[in-house]
Amino acid sequence: MSAQPHPQPSLLDRARKVLPGGTFGNTAAEVIIREGRGTRVWDENGKEYIDYLLGSGPMIVGHAHPEVSAAVHAQVEKGTTFFANNARGIELAEVIADAVPCADMVRFASTGSEADAFAMRLARAYRGRSKILKFEGGYHGYSDNGLMSLAPPRPGNDYRPQPDSAGIPDSVRDHVLVAPFNDTDAVASLIAVHKDDIAAVFMEPFQRLIPPRPGFLASMRELTQKHDILLVFDEVVTGFRLAYGGAQAYYGVTPDLCTLGKAIGGGFPLSAIAGREEVMALFDRARTDDQHFVPQVGTLSGNPVAAAAGLATLAILARPGTYERFFATGNKLRAALSELLARAGLDAQILGEPTMFDVVFRSGEVRNYRDMLRADKAKLARLNALLRERGVLKGENKCYLSVMLDDRDISQTIDAWEDAIKALTA
Ligand code: PMP
Repeated sequence: MSAQPHPQPSLLDRARKVLPGGTFGNTAAEVIIREGRGTRVWDENGKEYIDYLLGSGPMIVGHAHPEVSAAVHAQVEKGTTFFANNARGIELAEVIADAVPCADMVRFASTGSEADAFAMRLARAYRGRSKILKFEGGYHGYSDNGLMSLAPPRPGNDYRPQPDSAGIPDSVRDHVLVAPFNDTDAVASLIAVHKDDIAAVFMEPFQRLIPPRPGFLASMRELTQKHDILLVFDEVVTGFRLAYGGAQAYYGVTPDLCTLGKAIGGGFPLSAIAGREEVMALFDRARTDDQHFVPQVGTLSGNPVAAAAGLATLAILARPGTYERFFATGNKLRAALSELLARAGLDAQILGEPTMFDVVFRSGEVRNYRDMLRADKAKLARLNALLRERGVLKGENKCYLSVMLDDRDISQTIDAWEDAIKALTA
């Protein structure tokens, strides 16, 4: 008797068996990407997408860029990690120090979360104070301190810090202050009360999708300087994306410290803490007493393969004209999408900067997290699904653009949006 053929379980079934929620994080379990090249990715069914997810940001020069691949292959042949110093990592630190205004010195870690956690500790050690002032809705990774009031579902009248995850000790609340983004007066009031306890104002200079209002970042610089508080920009997203020198170059306000991730690893796990020499010196045992020393070590920190990928990526971005073209592409796409939304009579706007933005289904100015809460999220989720069916892949609430987008990508994207908006409003 011949054996019954067993149907092969699908990749999705297999994922659901071994991964909680069937996924690596918060993306849809059924989207399983097989490969990427340039501005496009293909899923396991062979469906092609123009990619605005871009690995959640890092693939700014597109997937499998020949120069990045060549640099990675060359390094892989010579060994993949040493823990010890290596030339690629040192070169990458030099490139970052040259590019980023606040960066006299650089230390590497592997993820944005890790860099943010080290930067918070460094600021506390430097100032000898325990509180971090952050903004409601601002994301600084998954550490206990980072996950305070990132996404409070029903924020009250006050800004008491709220943990975004189970398992965070209550005591963390005592060391975090929360303010509304784009509200200088609120920050000034908190600083007036807590100035002797605040180590740092820790912020995304461009918060998720929300640009700073004119003068807001400058007011944060002024207030922090006045009270000997460090200003830290989380540039994990904005670094090398808003400008080669990041948000600090783009908006013209230099913090004391910043964190970087995504683009600087060229698609590999690599992040950095960068900043003023006097502060960064606390990572140096030889220059620091026991009271101030902050050990900063990671098995894969400065990994040579990641550094090679990052160097190749930044070399492409550094070419003359790259950001002019990048912004022109973003402006063109944004204008076309705004017009489609307006023509459909939707209560919606495009929010962000030219190289990363998304639709927000509400009208009126969006200054902070609470304004954002009033947007129609369900409608955005429907639009995302309709776009996916039409070959446009994006994150839940952001479109990351790649510098490689060409005219064909743009016109195909606009056609997909037009059709998706038609379906949404049908
Ligand atoms: N900071 C910001 C502003 C981020 O957007 C992210 C991730 N999207 C992080 C920190 C955390 O980075 P990672 O996911 O590499 O830990």
